[in-house]
Amino acid sequence: MPRYDAVVVGSGPNGLAAAVELTTAGRRVLVVEGADVIGGGTRTEELTLPGFLHDVCSAIHPLGVASPFLASHGIGDWIHPDVPATHPLGDGRVVVLHESVDDTVSGLGTDGARYRRLIGGLVDRSDDVIDAILNPLPMVPDHPLTLARFGIPGLIPASTLVRTLRTEEGRALFAGLASHAIAPFSRPMTGAVVQAFAVSAHASGWPLVRGGSQRLAEAMADIVTSAGGVIETGRWIRSLAEFEEVPVVMLDVMPPAAVRIGGTRIHRSAAKRMAKWSSGPGVFKVDWALDGPIPWSDEWSRRSGTVHVGGTYEEIAASERAVHDGQHPEDPFVIVAQQSLFDDTRAPVGKHTGWGYCHVPSGSGVDMTEAIEAQIERFAPGFRDRILARHTMGPRQYEEHNPNYVAGDIAGGAFSLGRTLRFGYGQYRIGDGLYLCSSATSPGAGVHGMCGYHAARAALLDTR
Ligand SMILES: Cc1cc2nc3c(=O)[nH]c(=O)nc-3n(C[C@H](O)[C@H](O)[C@H](O)COP(=O)(O)OP(=O)(O)OC[C@H]3O[C@@H](n4cnc5c(N)ncnc54)[C@H](O)[C@@H]3O)c2cc1C
Repeated sequence: MPRYDAVVVGSGPNGLAAAVELTTAGRRVLVVEGADVIGGGTRTEELTLPGFLHDVCSAIHPLGVASPFLASHGIGDWIHPDVPATHPLGDGRVVVLHESVDDTVSGLGTDGARYRRLIGGLVDRSDDVIDAILNPLPMVPDHPLTLARFGIPGLIPASTLVRTLRTEEGRALFAGLASHAIAPFSRPMTGAVVQAFAVSAHASGWPLVRGGSQRLAEAMADIVTSAGGVIETGRWIRSLAEFEEVPVVMLDVMPPAAVRIGGTRIHRSAAKRMAKWSSGPGVFKVDWALDGPIPWSDEWSRRSGTVHVGGTYEEIAASERAVHDGQHPEDPFVIVAQQSLFDDTRAPVGKHTGWGYCHVPSGSGVDMTEAIEAQIERFAPGFRDRILARHTMGPRQYEEHNPNYVAGDIAGGAFSLGRTLRFGYGQYRIGDGLYLCSSATSPGAGVHGMCGYHAARAALLDTR
């Protein structure tokens, strides 16, 4: 008899979620992680100076706080910043994404009513919307009206959705939200990304984790080991030869790695499906140790967890388009997170951390530090004077840090209609007792654990 009922390869949030689900169902589970530290994209490290704790990857968790899986295990000591996000426009002007729809609407001038029509109605049904975002698409929808209201405008590209807005503020806000798709705004379904990120801000906020994102991985690992599971680190899995007898193997890896590792255990149809997978653009990120908070010109950005830095809709759309055309934008769109403003465990007293990244072409080796810092300086004059130390990572360093970030892609694969519209549990089953549980499956990128949860449910159903 094999020693384990299930082996999970990879301890990212999805691998650990799968392990939690399997161990708490009474299965004997081994988690094998290649890196020396568990957590995958949720690791937190002193990247710059002693006492400065930086989230190496994920920082802000709209889908984490909304995740029914994390909530059901009481995982997540969430800190909600004063406002989820701001979007400075220069000269002290700023668009504020408040948790309250009314407050957001009141800052959007003549676009307020249009924003309420497009987003407010969905917020009223946010439970159904979050349900649609965090689960594989059902063959027969449970909430057809909400799905229609969310799905039909969502199918259209962000570049079309934005035509309903007239003000620079409203259009810039939509551009910042659409950029989370990591795709040109002319792509179908980028409208759904705008809706999903706006609804999540209003429904449950965009929080960070007290002590660092690593705490999410630690909390899941505690559940696994308390229930008798075993976690091994520093052991890369290249084939499943040694786990031939284990009835269930879950792979928290990208499809090309799953095909390599799965070998003869992979079903031909799944191998064919996974051969179509491709990676999307990469990221270039800078972490800063700062002598004080980022000196934004506007007041609201000094109180926001996330700041979308890039100016107008047109500037941001051009930046994202350039990346897709294989170019490095001179004025990149930068997503900034300010954890230490709200969590005093992140930096020594009076000091702060900064976290910011922009998109770059797949596999890029170009250093974007100067361009990123110039964009922040544009909306926060004096920013550079506060930098005590910095740490940078481009696509190559990310892939070295974690092979799931293929050529720097942090989203589990290129954004496409086919990838977004995936039905049922079949997507997780890739072979004989073999399951894909990474962010390459539904519901995709982000720290929520739902890919791992669903893959484990599929395995439990198959091995009842
Ligand atoms: C710069 C950056 C910013 C991000 N910001 C956010 C954010 O703010 N909010 C958010 O929700 N998400 C964010 N993300 C995305 C988020 O981190 C990922 O979507 C999430 O971590 C995916 O989880 P996962 O479990 O599928 O895979 P991963 O977290 O990638 O974990 C996979 C694990 O498997 C291990 N592994 C892979 N292959 C093998 C093997 N052969 N043998 C053994 N172990 C193996 C890896 O070492 C890794 O530990 C960000 C990512 C990056 C890089």
